[in-house]
Amino acid sequence: MSIRKVAVIGAGTMGSGIAGQVANAGIEVWLLDLPTEDNANALAERGLERLRDPNQPGLVSKDAEAFIHLGNTRDDFDQLADCDWVAEAVVERLDIKKDLYQRLDTVCRNDAIITSNTSTIPIRLLVEDMPLAFRQRFAITHFFNPVRFMRLLELVRGEDTDPSVIELLADFCEQQLGKGVVPCLDTPGFLGNRVGVFAIQCALQAAFEQGLTPLEADAIFGRPMGIPKTGVFGLYDLIGIDLMSDVVQSLVNILPDSDLFHAEAAKIPLMTQMIDNGQTGNKQGQGFYRDVESGREVLNLETAEYEAAPRLNLPLAEKAERDGVRHLLDDNGVYGQFAWRVLSRTLSYAVSLIPEVGEDPVGIDDAMKLGYNWVKGPFELIDEIGVDTFIARLEADQLPIPSFVAEAAGSSFYRVADNELQARHVGGTWQPIQRPDGVIRFTEKRQALQPRNSCAVASWFELEDIALVEFHSKANALDADSMAILGDALSQVEADGLQGLIVHNDAQHFSCGVNLQAVRDFFRRDDMDGLDKFLQDFQQTVHRMQTAPFPVVAAPVGLSIGGGFEVVLHAKQVICHANSVMGLVESLVGVVPGGGGCKETLYRWIELLQCGDDISAACWKAFMNLGYGKTATSPIIAKQQAMLRAHDRFVINRDRILGEAIKAIADPEGQVSFERPALVMPGRPLFEEMVKWLEQSRDKGVFMPHDVNVGSEMARIVTGGDIEPGTVWSEQDFYDAERRSFLSLVATTATRDRINSMLDAGSPVRN
Ligand code: NAD
Repeated sequence: MSIRKVAVIGAGTMGSGIAGQVANAGIEVWLLDLPTEDNANALAERGLERLRDPNQPGLVSKDAEAFIHLGNTRDDFDQLADCDWVAEAVVERLDIKKDLYQRLDTVCRNDAIITSNTSTIPIRLLVEDMPLAFRQRFAITHFFNPVRFMRLLELVRGEDTDPSVIELLADFCEQQLGKGVVPCLDTPGFLGNRVGVFAIQCALQAAFEQGLTPLEADAIFGRPMGIPKTGVFGLYDLIGIDLMSDVVQSLVNILPDSDLFHAEAAKIPLMTQMIDNGQTGNKQGQGFYRDVESGREVLNLETAEYEAAPRLNLPLAEKAERDGVRHLLDDNGVYGQFAWRVLSRTLSYAVSLIPEVGEDPVGIDDAMKLGYNWVKGPFELIDEIGVDTFIARLEADQLPIPSFVAEAAGSSFYRVADNELQARHVGGTWQPIQRPDGVIRFTEKRQALQPRNSCAVASWFELEDIALVEFHSKANALDADSMAILGDALSQVEADGLQGLIVHNDAQHFSCGVNLQAVRDFFRRDDMDGLDKFLQDFQQTVHRMQTAPFPVVAAPVGLSIGGGFEVVLHAKQVICHANSVMGLVESLVGVVPGGGGCKETLYRWIELLQCGDDISAACWKAFMNLGYGKTATSPIIAKQQAMLRAHDRFVINRDRILGEAIKAIADPEGQVSFERPALVMPGRPLFEEMVKWLEQSRDKGVFMPHDVNVGSEMARIVTGGDIEPGTVWSEQDFYDAERRSFLSLVATTATRDRINSMLDAGSPVRN
């Protein structure tokens, strides 16, 4: 059987998200909720509305909406009769779920798969009243919120679930819905929430006990530990303090009394008071943090008053973020103590769950990486700290040593042997990490490879006769060294007879652009020649990607913006993720794209609009994209915005991007070398028209004064500027024009102010 028609019951946060992801995969889906009086489908319609949220679009494009059919459980229940999969995502109430299953059993085909999205109710309770035939095709598919973006799917098998049902769901959710499927046993909280909520609670309690401010706690329990920067208090605000409290309470209810979670779950009076006051987090505009006109404020945990939130400067946190979590543990001060309290308990707790939840570390580590966006899972963190160091610290504090960590003494949880990454199993055996065919995570692959060339910010490796360039600086910002590694790899592909080159990394984001600090260093030294040389090298390196006599693929995930997107723009083919976000956002910091981005934007609009001799329409489009710093939130939108080309492709599962990129290297079809032809430029009249439009928009209050200067430089590049109409420009003329404009803007105080405030305050001034 294959899954061709799906129904989701319950159109709330999760149900709408699941239906959205099914539609993103191009599969028909019915989204049903309870009927309401005036408009029977109002709740399902609200679910669809949720998917349209521009801040977090649940759909890859407007077209995906066509796959979603809205209905209600009174009028449209018979639609379920020919569904292959019915996913239940109604409220977390056992009685309601049970009633629904009784009804489902009367309409669904007898081979239809039924799953629940429950977070806390054991499978055996859900189906205790149902006949065996129903229980055999029933499982829990536990998605994470927001469904489109969270990679984890916990797939829970009940005692009676038929293995073929699990296999079908695993394949479908992995390949069609793009999820990292982690098989789970029917244990409380499964894996992600069991460890994730424990970690959050542990950090919360420790912060209160040790008198840390939310800012301090989030600065440590955040990036330095490889945890998203929302940390603990920011995450509470994001999820909702009321909702998180319910989640904690439901874990308290389902975990046995002996579970260590109870020690971290005590109610904090201030938080009860906050819920009563409506300070429940971002949805109410105030929680532990709030944004006011004068900037960000943070709650003082002692006085319960809001205060200005200064930008914290914690060298320890910076060092740990750069050089590894163990640096936190070397610190004897309050931050080091906080870090150790959280890490010792959380990591020990995770280890203590083996063998209850599984026999090896992979499931828990995957769950934390894919469901909580941790860079490393708990076992990987212990390996980084060192198993023996970890044990010694636990002993020094007279803390219990979980048996699975004791087994690993003198060794590790993961190792590279026989050129592959292996995981320790209970009892001390080692087994290779099994991934579905076609799934390659470079973070894992890399461990068995030696870089051919490497520096602090980038490396390149030889993988299956292909050069793979990986950026690995903070946010993968690009500087001269990153480009030198890319340049070296480009040279070596030919010299060594490799098949081609892939630029890829398995980090959260491909690249957030050129390192602004490097740009600031140039202007602070007044070294404009040095800056020009940096831009020239950048342009020449990316130009070599587009014209190389071998295949070149960019395989970006997450954000590819600014200079990062300029690298992507010059690959012969792009294989990206369905959630890749891309665009040239340089205008925000008062510069123009100076690495071929303006040039490519114009040429791509010319291609897309199929302009003949008159390229004016493409010039306007390019001018708008660049000026507004437009980003595309999916590859489909990127194609509509001329950011990607027709033969560029996307993959719904980010773990399959690298595998697809490797295939693309072997397929000359997709490899289009694109030396750009000379263009007949519209020149002065169009340039002046654009500048006039900018000035009028400024006069109407739409743009700030410096936006006009930045926009004028973009207009100058895409039209040719102050030149006679009909003047012919080569590709090199565009590169030169980009550099001239970049340098002239960096010479202005207004651009320097934008760059300084971006670096020092985290956002650019509007000037
Ligand atoms: P929600 O409150 O946002 O939505 C639940 C929806 O179910 C509502 O629209 C409600 O009208 C509908 N509903 C209630 N009874 C119904 C019935 N008999 N028939 C049809 N529809 C009915 O809840 P949610 O956050 O989307 O959670 C849904 C499920 O997913 C729960 O089991 C929850 O534990 C689980 N879950 C939630 C999250 C999360 O982050 N919110 C994450 C993972 C799992």
